[in-house]
Amino acid sequence: MQRSSRLTRLYIDFDAFFAHVEKQIDPALHGRPVAVTPMPSRYSGVIAACYQAKARGVKRGMKCDEAEALCPDIVFRHARHDVYVKLHHKIIAEVNRFMPVLKTWSIDEVECGVPARTTEAAVILAKQMRRGLAQTIGPIITPSIGLSCNQLLAKIAAEMNKPRGLIVLHPDDLPGRLLEVPLEDVPGIAAGMLPRLARAGVHDMAGLWGLAPKQARAIWGNVQGERLWAELHGYHVKRPETSRSMFGHSRVLSGDWRQRDKARECLILLAAKATRRLRADQFMATKLTVSLKDAEGQRVSHELQFPPARDDFTLLRATRAAFDGCAAKTICRVYAHISVYLHGLKPEGQASGDLFEQAHRAQRKLQYETASDAMDRINARYGGNTVNLGTREEPPGGYAGAKIAFGRVPDIEDFSAAR
Ligand SMILES: [Mg+2]
Repeated sequence: MQRSSRLTRLYIDFDAFFAHVEKQIDPALHGRPVAVTPMPSRYSGVIAACYQAKARGVKRGMKCDEAEALCPDIVFRHARHDVYVKLHHKIIAEVNRFMPVLKTWSIDEVECGVPARTTEAAVILAKQMRRGLAQTIGPIITPSIGLSCNQLLAKIAAEMNKPRGLIVLHPDDLPGRLLEVPLEDVPGIAAGMLPRLARAGVHDMAGLWGLAPKQARAIWGNVQGERLWAELHGYHVKRPETSRSMFGHSRVLSGDWRQRDKARECLILLAAKATRRLRADQFMATKLTVSLKDAEGQRVSHELQFPPARDDFTLLRATRAAFDGCAAKTICRVYAHISVYLHGLKPEGQASGDLFEQAHRAQRKLQYETASDAMDRINARYGGNTVNLGTREEPPGGYAGAKIAFGRVPDIEDFSAAR
């Protein structure tokens, strides 16, 4: 682990991006409170509110009626993805004129390397870049900028003084202003983590800062706690690349288990095992593929895509849907071989949330994840399938293919064949 003594990272996070883009583009919206909704319906929620609307209490996740009650003159606009994406590319091109873009974290968040040697030079460069952006994309679409010595601290700095912020968290001054940041604003501290931190006596940033790395690891129950600790303390932590490409299981079926309903049940069981391993290794999946070989030797597969997920509820539902998608592609109702793969993996801490996810959906996702984690702990303690969402009946083990059953991780060749 390295610790730099200068500002090496600049993070840009645009202020209420979608809402301010709409205001920038349409002069009729200038000076008016604006909110963007994912669908052209009054029943959808607000996914972005401009700062004028925010000042009146309008928040992301709010229903349109609620927003209108607080701010009767609010204008709703339906999100225009194509427009935002085009602007995103213009932004990247402009930022690259001033410093290299290292990574695009989302449509309105970008991480750059800082070529300047001194703090003063870095701040001057940041201000020049901000002027350049105002000229190319317009003065209403404003960025907040954070400067620090790693991605996490620079991102936190960018969030600290929105809108139009420019905050420096210099490694030599840590913790400094970092102590002002509420724990729930720290990327990597999920809402579910807060009660655990509280039980460990950590109620604010000062408490977190004061932990020993091993204590952070113990609270998180894995290496992620120690990594977060190190990044907050200004270290540059090299996160392991996603070397894994998938989690999956396959099975040769025999006897009763070849019938459609039983095959589906067995597949759910295989998927449940794969999701457990996905969680144990701290990944999230964005794709799921189910393959079936029917009794006549025909092979079919079906792939689904979704926002990053790690819970049984979402992934087993996707498994069922993919099975049905597969089954619809073959006339034969008897199956000889089934497989399920979770892929499109992202490390747990790095998966950014879906911008179009509404608050109630995010809440349900958190409940699903918490419930899945609880099931994992019970199963680790009491063994096997003490609790699970699928069938409780294990398919008989004494048939052909038992050796390659649950413990086997198919290699990439299997997977490409399945696709
Ligand atoms: Mg933003």
